Amino acid sequence: MINISRLLKENGIVYPGDPSFKIVEQQIAGYEGTKLRSAYQIFLTKNHHGTHIDFPAHKIPSGKTSDFFPLDYFINMAVLLDKRDNKPLNYSTVTEKVGAVIIYTGDNMGYLTKEETNNLKNFKTLRMVGTDSLTIDKRGANGASHRILLEKDILILEGLCNLEKVLETYGTGQFMLYAAPVAIQNTDGAPVRAFVGEAK
Ligand SMILES: [Zn+2]
Repeated sequence: MINISRLLKENGIVYPGDPSFKIVEQQIAGYEGTKLRSAYQIFLTKNHHGTHIDFPAHKIPSGKTSDFFPLDYFINMAVLLDKRDNKPLNYSTVTEKVGAVIIYTGDNMGYLTKEETNNLKNFKTLRMVGTDSLTIDKRGANGASHRILLEKDILILEGLCNLEKVLETYGTGQFMLYAAPVAIQNTDGAPVRAFVGEAK
């Protein structure tokens, strides 16, 4: 298995202008006399920090939230499309068996053009589009690519890492993408532990 989720950590890279992820220590483990005190922390995080899923409600008024998607929606046969240095996307590997594509931009602010997004939207079996960028939209594009995909219930997986390893291992071939969000009720976005493994 190859991990493709970034670590959520203080001073990690966040979308420009976003507050930083924080861990607030409330208690550390120890004894008060003979009584054991448990450690616990509070996480301060935006729901779109680190590696996360955008649900339709992120950009679509009255769009679907996390509640609407069954677990199997997050497990898909996938391929990686190399868009580093703004290479044109080669869609020839996106067959009917493919439920997810990962766009490797090599850039935290890489993005999909409207044309590329429209091409992806037309693949009927697609349920998820992932990227190593922090956003699939060009800054200032007013969420155009987000909306094109989310209107079709194609979920967006942002902030992936380790894609050079995925490319090295699978090339243009298929693999399984596992990207289930943390189970949070009625949210427009949620952190994900994403990883890939052999196609099955
Ligand atoms: Zn997001």
